Amino acid sequence: MKFIFKVLILSCFFSELSALNVRVLLRENQEEPWHISSLKGVQLRDAGNKDRVFPKTSTVHALTIQKEDQYIRVNGKKISSKLMWIDPLDKYLTIDGKTYDGRFLIAYEKNKWLLINVIDSEEYLYSVLKTESWPGWPLEVNKGFAIACRSYLLYQLLSSRDRDSVYHIKNTNYHQTYQGIHDDKDLRQAVEETRGIFLAYNQKPILAMFDCCCGGVITAKIVNGMDFTKVPYLARKQACTFCKGTKLYEWRATYSVEQFTSIVQGSRDHVVHPIRGITIADKDKAGLVKKVTIKTKRDFFTITARQMNLLFKGVKSYCFSVLKRGNTITIDGKGHGHHLGMCQWGAREMVRQGWSHKDILQFYYPNTYFMQLAPNNHQEVV
Ligand SMILES: [Zn+2]
Repeated sequence: MKFIFKVLILSCFFSELSALNVRVLLRENQEEPWHISSLKGVQLRDAGNKDRVFPKTSTVHALTIQKEDQYIRVNGKKISSKLMWIDPLDKYLTIDGKTYDGRFLIAYEKNKWLLINVIDSEEYLYSVLKTESWPGWPLEVNKGFAIACRSYLLYQLLSSRDRDSVYHIKNTNYHQTYQGIHDDKDLRQAVEETRGIFLAYNQKPILAMFDCCCGGVITAKIVNGMDFTKVPYLARKQACTFCKGTKLYEWRATYSVEQFTSIVQGSRDHVVHPIRGITIADKDKAGLVKKVTIKTKRDFFTITARQMNLLFKGVKSYCFSVLKRGNTITIDGKGHGHHLGMCQWGAREMVRQGWSHKDILQFYYPNTYFMQLAPNNHQEVV
C-alpha cells in the first residue's frame, strides 16, 4: 500500500491548528449545580479583564455554581460576567468527582451556561484514549486509535468555526468520551509515537468515526442518513472480515413478550397493548434497519432502529432481524455500534496478522493520507 506522508506547512487556514489547545465542553446542564474543587484552591477571574479576580472566590477549595438566566451564583454570590476563567492553583480541577488538567472556562452561549476545559490537544487525546480505545491492547492498535481520535478532534475543531461556538468538541459519545486524567503508560506511548499525525482528505482532517465491531457491514451501501459526498472516506466498499471471530460479530437478544412490551411502553405516551407481532418495516442495502413495525392486539405502530438501539440493551447495532415465536421475541444482529469507519475488533485482529497501524487506517478510511501538525507553535485559543 502506498502512503503519501506530508508535513503540514503553516498556512492561514491551519495556523490556529498547530500544536493547539482544544476547548472541550464538560457540562451544559442548566439545572443541576456544578461542584468544582481543587486541593490548593481556585481563582475565578473575569476573562475580559485578567486582573479582576472575583472577590470571595480567591483561594477557596470548593465552588458550587448555580446557573440563572443571565448570571451565575458562585457559593451563593451573584456574578454577572459571561466569560470567566477558573484557575486551579495546583493545575488540577475536580468536577463532580472526575479530575481534569489544564484551564477552565465558564461561558454563556446561546442562552446556556457552559463549562469548558482548555487543554493541550495531545494531552486531551491521551485522556480520550482511556475511554475511546482499549487500554491493554497492543501498542500498534492504540497508535491507530490515537491517529483516528486526533483526526476526529481536528475535524470537529474546524466544524466548530462554522457553528461559531466557543467550544470545539463535546466530552460525551456524541463526539468523543473524555473523563479526565489517568496514568496509562502504554496509551502515553501511543500518543507520543504518533504526535501530531492525522488522516486527511482534500487537505482537511477527516471525520474518523469508528465503532467497536462492524459485523461485516459494507459501509458504502449505507443510505440511512449518511451523505457520503461530504465524507467519501467513510463509504468503504470492501467488507471487514477481520472481526468475524469475535463475540460481537454476531449476537442474539431474547425477551419475553411482557419484557419487550414493558420496555417499549417506556418510550410511548399511549398504552401499548399485548404485542402480536414484530416485523422489519424498512432497511437499507447494507442491511441496516431503519424502522420496525409492532403489531398489537388493537393497533400497530413503528419505532426506529435508533430507538431500538437506545431502548434495548441487548440490541447492539442497527443490523438485525426480529422474530416472535410464542411468548419469545428473538433479535439476531451483527456488530456493535454504528458500522461506520474503523472497526476496533477488526483492527486488533489485523495487528495480530501483521498489519501496521497505517495500513489499517487506510483500509478503513479509503483514499485518505497522513498529514502532521507543525510542531512548536503553541497558541492560546481564547
Ligand atoms: Zn469488522
